[in-house]
Amino acid sequence: MENRAEDYAPDNSIISDSIVLEALGALMTGARLAARWGGLSPASLQAHQAILHAYLTSGDPPSVSEFSADTLSDLGQRDLVHVRDGRIALAYPFSTRPTDFQVRVGGGEVHAICAVDALGTAAMAREQAEVTCVCPTCRAGVSIGISPGGLTVEHASTPDPRVWTGVKDVGTCAADSQCKSMLLFCSPEHLDTWKRSQPQSARGFDLSLEQGVRLGAAIFRPFLHAQTNKASS
Ligand SMILES: [Zn+2]
Repeated sequence: MENRAEDYAPDNSIISDSIVLEALGALMTGARLAARWGGLSPASLQAHQAILHAYLTSGDPPSVSEFSADTLSDLGQRDLVHVRDGRIALAYPFSTRPTDFQVRVGGGEVHAICAVDALGTAAMAREQAEVTCVCPTCRAGVSIGISPGGLTVEHASTPDPRVWTGVKDVGTCAADSQCKSMLLFCSPEHLDTWKRSQPQSARGFDLSLEQGVRLGAAIFRPFLHAQTNKASS
């Protein structure tokens, strides 16, 4: 049986905030969801989940030799997994190459592609996570603890970190476009400093840490627990 795009749609039920819903709608359009998940074959789904589990348990992707070229090509066209130089380079929310967004989860360490990906990992894994994001303005690390359900901030090392979610054309790979403007700043002042360096036309949402966590959770919760599983369990 093929998978339905709506089974992987963001989980709006955990969002009560209109700005987070608006950000989610701008980032995850129906067309993008359909392109990603519509008619996903069981083989591609199984490979996708195996790749995410490998990142979660070891911090690294599995070898490309574990999957058929057709499956990897399908996941690439869907902008779910990208292979570069013969290696799995990324599978949202994870990056093989180190980034400014580190997540300790389930006893392992993994790099996330962007701030929202890092903040959504706990909800995807259904595990407690410790996230460290580097502020783009001062390069200080901001540490954040997220509850096992992935919905609640347990602690943060600065009083008001801001999550900037830029809205851009995604093209064929969100990691190369959208994700470059999903950032976490140590303070509102450092977000302001960065915004002044950006083009006037740059669009985006200025979210609190709690709002950023909900946004990430809504996007990534269904990745390993699609709505179909939820409904039948
Ligand atoms: Zn800063």
